[in-house]
Amino acid sequence: MRLEKLLAHTGHGTRSEIKRMMKTGTVSVNGRPVKDGGMQVDPTRDEIAVDGEAIFYREFIYIMMNKPQGVISATEDTRERTVIDLLDPEHRQFEPFPVGRLDKDTEGLLLLTNDGKLAHNLLSPRKHVPKTYFAEIEGQVTEEDRQSFAKGVALDDGYVTMPAELVILKSGAPEYGELSKIELTIMEGKFHQVKRMFQAVGKNVVYLKRLSMGPLQLDEHLAAGSCRELTAEELHELQ
Ligand code: URA
Repeated sequence: MRLEKLLAHTGHGTRSEIKRMMKTGTVSVNGRPVKDGGMQVDPTRDEIAVDGEAIFYREFIYIMMNKPQGVISATEDTRERTVIDLLDPEHRQFEPFPVGRLDKDTEGLLLLTNDGKLAHNLLSPRKHVPKTYFAEIEGQVTEEDRQSFAKGVALDDGYVTMPAELVILKSGAPEYGELSKIELTIMEGKFHQVKRMFQAVGKNVVYLKRLSMGPLQLDEHLAAGSCRELTAEELHELQ
């Protein structure tokens, strides 16, 4: 890979900062100062140092984000702010992408990575990775809804969902304008699935937040719009 790209991936600044740094001769490859950022290097074999300090290379990045409302789960968009716009430049250099999508008005756990294999494993419809959501629903969510979701409900396009687990945290009284609060675990990821499952039983989701995806749980200390890298333990559980 190009030396400049390696330096960007290892957090040594933006491309223009790195170009400037190269000119000062502080970067060395196998002990020799190098000023050409375009030089091809093999990070697993070449010894690359900045200011005499060897750099630690890694290929993949894994970021947990608490996605806020109002941004879209895409890598770029001409009009809307994307989740990538919320990342530090240091993380953006790795060119991560969101693993799956949350709607613009949905909050919560979003994993971003540049590890295509891990993303594929988590998203593969054959793997049935469970995803748990917290939601607030207009109207009264009932035991009957719980049973319908456990069996599978027909969405607006006729697709019948796989069994899903509905936990009713609070069954709101509609006469007092109360919302119901629930947790729902689904094993698939159809477009707008949670909202459409509630539509199928005549109810409207007014707030939706993803809490977990497989073994990965949203860090409750992560404010909406913030992110952090996965811990070694979280990554180990995902792989
Ligand atoms: N289901 C939805 O309806 N929306 C989401 O963002 C995620 C799951």
